[in-house]
Amino acid sequence: MKIVFECIVCGSKDLTYKSGWFESFITSTVFASHKTNTYNICQYTNSCRCNACGTVFSQLRLEDDDLHSLYDDYMGKSYSTIRALCENNYADVLEKTVREQESPVRKTTVMDFIGNYLEDVNSIIDFGGDRGQHIPDINAKKYVYEIDKNKKLVDGVQHFKNGMPKADFAMCCNVLEHVAYPREIINHMKFMCNDDALCFIEVPNDLFTLADIHPVSFHEHQVFYTIESIKKLIDVIEIKTMLLDYLGTGEVTPVIYAVGRL
Ligand SMILES: [Zn+2]
Repeated sequence: MKIVFECIVCGSKDLTYKSGWFESFITSTVFASHKTNTYNICQYTNSCRCNACGTVFSQLRLEDDDLHSLYDDYMGKSYSTIRALCENNYADVLEKTVREQESPVRKTTVMDFIGNYLEDVNSIIDFGGDRGQHIPDINAKKYVYEIDKNKKLVDGVQHFKNGMPKADFAMCCNVLEHVAYPREIINHMKFMCNDDALCFIEVPNDLFTLADIHPVSFHEHQVFYTIESIKKLIDVIEIKTMLLDYLGTGEVTPVIYAVGRL
């Protein structure tokens, strides 16, 4: 865990700070306080809003080792047990999450955005892609890069390992809002891809739906993006943008999409 003093997207030090906190489920997993049955305590942080690009993020950054304790058994038995202890509505959240994860609407939406660009794609990597269920149904080698290397993947998808041939299409969907340093994630993704590889980025449009444009509590999402901040992110990491758009309504959570070349 580290504290940052500049925007994790654009590097600006022009930040507005508000007192914030991590919700009890995060303190119970990342901070392991459930072992002492004190899962109701909160871990305080500052909520920072970047005045240059609009990104809102926790000043205390949960890094890889913290995220392992959160995502190694994502939605599995121990994860669900702890989360159900912390959140009365977890059964509803789980049902909605699973429904969206498996939603044919979601997959169709993805294809609507990238279908025109897939003609020359021979290999796809879905960065943080769960079981590979969102990878388009096209004739290409399909890989997932996940924190949990033991996760059982859907048929036809393999875990990406070092030394494998680089991919020519990278997906990164609903990942960047969970990570400490989004620029590092994209650079890591670049390393696994050929020059000029196609990329598709998707993040929740959280600030579109939240009445308070400066949220102060953090659950699994430790970054809240706007369209402007995603524009800034792909500019800073030098992705050649081809398409940037958002969906604010529909059967799935509002999202921002970007298609580009790495
Ligand atoms: Zn910024």
